[in-house]
Amino acid sequence: MSEIFEIGLGNNNPEIRKKADSDFVSFWDEQAKQLSWFSPWTKTLDWNPPFARWFVGGKINASYNALDVHQASKSQKPAILWEGENDESRVLTYEDLFVQVQKFANVLKSLGVKSGDRVTIYLPMVPELPIAMLACARIGATHTVVFSGFSATSIKDRIDDSKSKVVITADGGYRRGKVVKLKEVIDEAIQGFDFVEHVIVLERTKNEITLTSKDHLWHNLMDEASPSCDAEKLNSEHPLYILYTSGTTGKPKGVLHGTGGYLTHLHSTYKWAFDIKDSDVFFCTADIGWVTGHSYVVYAPLLHGATEVMYEGAPDFPDASRMWDILQKYKVTIFYTTPTALRMFMKFGDDIPNSFDLSTLRLLGTVGEPINPEVWKWYYKTIGKEKCPIIDTWWQTETGGMLISSLPGIETIPLKPGSGTRAIPGVNIAVVDENGTDVAPNTKGYLVIKNPWPGMLLTLWNDDEKYKTVYWSKYENWYYPGDYALKDDDDYLWLLGRADDVLKVAGHRIGTAELESCIVSHNSVAESAVCGIPDEVKGEVIIAFAVLKQGISKNDELEKEILLKIRNDIGPIATPKQIYFVSKLPKTRSGKIMRRLLKAIAKNEKIGDVSTLEDGAAVSEVQQSVEDLKRSMNV
Ligand code: ATP
Ligand code: MG
Repeated sequence: MSEIFEIGLGNNNPEIRKKADSDFVSFWDEQAKQLSWFSPWTKTLDWNPPFARWFVGGKINASYNALDVHQASKSQKPAILWEGENDESRVLTYEDLFVQVQKFANVLKSLGVKSGDRVTIYLPMVPELPIAMLACARIGATHTVVFSGFSATSIKDRIDDSKSKVVITADGGYRRGKVVKLKEVIDEAIQGFDFVEHVIVLERTKNEITLTSKDHLWHNLMDEASPSCDAEKLNSEHPLYILYTSGTTGKPKGVLHGTGGYLTHLHSTYKWAFDIKDSDVFFCTADIGWVTGHSYVVYAPLLHGATEVMYEGAPDFPDASRMWDILQKYKVTIFYTTPTALRMFMKFGDDIPNSFDLSTLRLLGTVGEPINPEVWKWYYKTIGKEKCPIIDTWWQTETGGMLISSLPGIETIPLKPGSGTRAIPGVNIAVVDENGTDVAPNTKGYLVIKNPWPGMLLTLWNDDEKYKTVYWSKYENWYYPGDYALKDDDDYLWLLGRADDVLKVAGHRIGTAELESCIVSHNSVAESAVCGIPDEVKGEVIIAFAVLKQGISKNDELEKEILLKIRNDIGPIATPKQIYFVSKLPKTRSGKIMRRLLKAIAKNEKIGDVSTLEDGAAVSEVQQSVEDLKRSMNV
């Protein structure tokens, strides 16, 4: 039995779900009308499976909806409260953004960028990053933002794949007090790429750089640019951006998103989930290099004319109090982060957050991975002081915006720690078996989405075939996200991890999240990851990895306690063959555990593509610890 938390914001609008259930197409049609369109659509949905086009015939512009629409009433309202890693700060009002974006749009035009051209953006978390994105959107150029922590090889592949005409970067970026030389990375990445015509370089760190004939300095171009540039009237399905997935499961895929449907999805989910009000201060910790940053740092908050905090650096720099310090400084009311970050903060104990004034918070959210109930409760008590609902939002780069979440903006439903609760209105999500039949309550199966939704990807860039095979071949005309899940007796959805990672032991199937949550619920454990490796007798055996909380060291007793806990809470069947205690787990740069790698290491296999890894050292450390143990076990 899971615990239930009766907490909400008192908003209840059952009409929304009723309408959505009766006809999802006309429901989304109504939602889309909340945006500003240059001309209306003639067809709400053109569904030619598996390709969906939303609001066909409608003309719209993302930058217009993010900026122009607010100039009459909110021009002096702060849009971005920017906090630099080194304590610098900047405030950009809606008017400031409006001016900068128009100027930069003119800069792009002056370099020959036209509607439909791709522009790669490789910038740190500075306001010029959203400015560059919105400027692209303004003139119809498709942006492709690459996380500024990536190496030359990863960025090279992405520039090549998207055939970007212009690349935007900075001299350097700050990361944990050090300067990362971004311009040098770009110089290496674009070698031999004649199709890259221009590189625009923002001065951020003022480290020495060598300019080539393709290079232009951001401020020189901006000095000469005219401050007005009308937004292009674009087709609803005009490609707004390409974004490569985080690569947890393998090679990143170039997800292509459109405009009208995507913006509609964001506009709706932002108010349903975050209950956004004019007075709120929103803070999403995601890097804009990931989809969460695209959707809920750049587009959704600006569509709503919200005020948000944008932070440049690492969450634990210069120390583990940085996040709480930012929340206090900016009087943040809504905080959206990842389970990985929360597990890290939790590892440092309660004293740090307890020494800050977090009383302005009214709503908390998470995204990116299943949140362990233990971590949820810590978030609820220590950060939210038992007065903030927590929304656990499930979605993917491909889905554009949230698809599963509790929605305190429109309904109060009791929360269960670790459950994403329900699908958003207008989306039909089910848990099915191999044959596509709905499984009984509390039975595990595959998550599927049975109808198209406005934020869904248009396709994979230049690869319709892969788009069909990856998402639409397991079930006919249903989208297959590749996640394992169950619905409980109350119809709450529980995400149990990736379907590919499911542990199959002696005929039983166990989701990685179930077992990891159980291990993390031991008082001494901060983080855990599990994977299955082949076994001649049992078919598969489970291997577990655990990171202990600060100040705790491994011992035999601890291992016994954890194993006992697993036996009691899940059953003897789930007992791992081995628990490895490590100080780091291999994670993607967006903070997700790469079980694929753990598995390869434990199986002694070659490690494949690791371009999206956060920290190469974590892999060698895990490898080392596996080898040490094997040696001591004489295997
Ligand atoms: P790739 O597709 O290249 O392997 P990725 O799937 O890690 O990369 P994202 O699109 O950033 O890239 O991640 C989406 C995935 O993250 C989901 O499919 C799901 O497995 C997981 N996820 C996201 N939010 C949640 C959540 N709230 N609860 C459980 N899992 C989540
Ligand atoms: Mg994925």
